[in-house]
Amino acid sequence: MRHRLAELRGPDVPAKALDARALAALAANPGCRRRAILDGAGVDKVRLAGALGAPSGFGQSQFALTRGNAFEARVKADGGAELLRLAHARLDPGAEPPEAAAVPDLTAHGPEGRTARTALALREATRAGGWTLLDHPMLALDVAGSLAFLEPDAVVVHPDGSWSVVEIKSFPMLDGAADPAKVGAAARQAAVYVLALEEVAERIGAEPEGHAGAEGDGGPRRQSAHGGTRAAVVRHRVLLVCPKDFSNLAAASAVDVRKQRAVTARQLARLTRIEEIAEALPEGTCFAPDRSAEELTAAVAAVPATYAPECLSACELAFHCRELAREAGAVTRLGRPLRAELGGLATVEEVLAAARGFSGDPDDPAVAALRRAAALRAEALESAKARAGAEVAACR
Ligand code: SF4
Repeated sequence: MRHRLAELRGPDVPAKALDARALAALAANPGCRRRAILDGAGVDKVRLAGALGAPSGFGQSQFALTRGNAFEARVKADGGAELLRLAHARLDPGAEPPEAAAVPDLTAHGPEGRTARTALALREATRAGGWTLLDHPMLALDVAGSLAFLEPDAVVVHPDGSWSVVEIKSFPMLDGAADPAKVGAAARQAAVYVLALEEVAERIGAEPEGHAGAEGDGGPRRQSAHGGTRAAVVRHRVLLVCPKDFSNLAAASAVDVRKQRAVTARQLARLTRIEEIAEALPEGTCFAPDRSAEELTAAVAAVPATYAPECLSACELAFHCRELAREAGAVTRLGRPLRAELGGLATVEEVLAAARGFSGDPDDPAVAALRRAAALRAEALESAKARAGAEVAACR
């Protein structure tokens, strides 16, 4: 399979490593086989979109990055005192207040070294009790047989030994609420970190002295009855920290990521079955960026996709896929809610044919609703025409 994926990527083209943003985007459009195979094969979608002549404006601006970094540094100043205060208030108000938290040094050589150092720090903090802040820890997640290295903004270890992911974002929280679309994207990203942390917790739990607790709502966990070893449990409520009402002050809320975690876990499990998608592709399919635009267009079109307007903020191929969806008359480009209403009708042509009574099962609720809507429209147009005729006659 590795060989087949390398062929799809192109000879001597290195695989692009997946980061949490890319993994989270998979969960944003779980039905898209095109994205699954491109990400699974490590294709650089930014270069591919450029070679297709449809570069995407997807990504963070330099200004947003700089502003985000400055806000994060402010939130983590003084040994993360403010961050831990927010974690205590929003996630664990029943625990002792974080007066003197530990902030272990996670410096190590290379991503593997940093991952090992993070796991060690998590184990020590879990056993020690009290509050610990891990600033930019490194986590590894097995994705389709290869490791993706992920770096959350922070992980907090609670006094009961449980762990929480912290996401620090630069979009504002106004009156305690932020833009739901941005919160959703942050939750999907945090869910990827939760999955990676769970792998660490499992390893720690498997050690003789460890004692892994049960999963659930992410609430406080028990202590081991023997030896005082605390449970290595990952909470499913993460801490989202944002600027408060456009100020420099920090506001935070607890976000439940159970749903996003489940979707992402399912997506990752599907990624390990990308063989099926690869096998269905025509012989010689290749996404190497040095191929001609025509060849690449044919290769991309060979993989079924489910374009949705949400792709515009989550996938580098969005402009290209939107064009293909428009040419095919696919109803997915009108948004998922409408797509769901239309049942099995996938194109505008099919919808119009069903509404006009040329095709479709009249017992199908979507077809019946379309015909009723078409009849009402015809009736309204007829009466408008009659009214206009009467007005013209009165003027004469
Ligand atoms: S932009 Fe295209 S490849 Fe990306 S998720 Fe949407 S449909 Fe799939």
